Amino acid sequence: MTTLINKIPSKSLFAAGEVALVGAGPGDPELLTIKALRFIEQAEVAVYDRLVSNEIMALLPDDCERIYVGKKQADHRLPQEGINEVLVEQAKLGKKVLRLKGGDPFIFGRGGEEALHILDNGVSCHVAPGMTAASSCAAYAGIPLTHRGVAQGCSFITGHLQSDGNLDLPWTALSVDTQTVVFYMGINTLSTIKDELIKHGRSADTPAAIIEKGTRPEQRTIRGTLTTLPDIVTEHNIKPPALIIIGKVIDQFDEAHLDNTGYFKALEA
Ligand code: SAH
Repeated sequence: MTTLINKIPSKSLFAAGEVALVGAGPGDPELLTIKALRFIEQAEVAVYDRLVSNEIMALLPDDCERIYVGKKQADHRLPQEGINEVLVEQAKLGKKVLRLKGGDPFIFGRGGEEALHILDNGVSCHVAPGMTAASSCAAYAGIPLTHRGVAQGCSFITGHLQSDGNLDLPWTALSVDTQTVVFYMGINTLSTIKDELIKHGRSADTPAAIIEKGTRPEQRTIRGTLTTLPDIVTEHNIKPPALIIIGKVIDQFDEAHLDNTGYFKALEA
């Protein structure tokens, strides 16, 4: 395997004083990209948050400095500016700065904001995409996000409240029966999500699932319907990170085939 990786030419070379915004994926280290691995290998300082799994942190070089800038959802207001400044400061010290982020840096990861700030301060950066929670958690849970004749499209939506305290989303578009909708950061606003979708015409019986700690050894997938989603959170004591998937794609595979690792077991005929 190592030899195979060496056959892939590397374009991922860090210069001193640069930042790499690297997607670490949802948790399982096997979902890291080769590009991510190459940046991890070269890092002199790693700026990381809560969603980066311990197994991935363990891959950092021993002498790589680690700076935690994580934030719990409750203190989401912890200034992003602080993180931006740390990145620029470290780069200006001439270090190779690895900004490790859960999932993909450009999908609800504020990677765009960080890259803009870094560039504004005269520092160059690399961006390495990562496996986002939606596609990876869905695959491990046995849910094809699109499926011919069932779902023609899929939306990734944030359930996090806007700064004015509202959840102002294109509910009519999200209520189309043949659309899969994936909510990131939606656990706290789940009742509103359910009510609005039903109000805008989505059937209350639409299959739905919550995936907790996706792709990690503790992954739990709990299936229900749009109506039962809020009860799932309380009955199963769902904790972050958790992802919500709504749509008929949820039920394509019999749960007897599935084990939350992306392995689909054939049953005796
Ligand atoms: N950039 C990340 C998303 C960060 S937003 C990505 O591309 O995946 C944080 C939200 O992502 C969480 O609230 C949760 O909804 C989701 N999430 C991230 N990792 C997850 C995981 N391992 N399991 C379930 N949900 C996850």
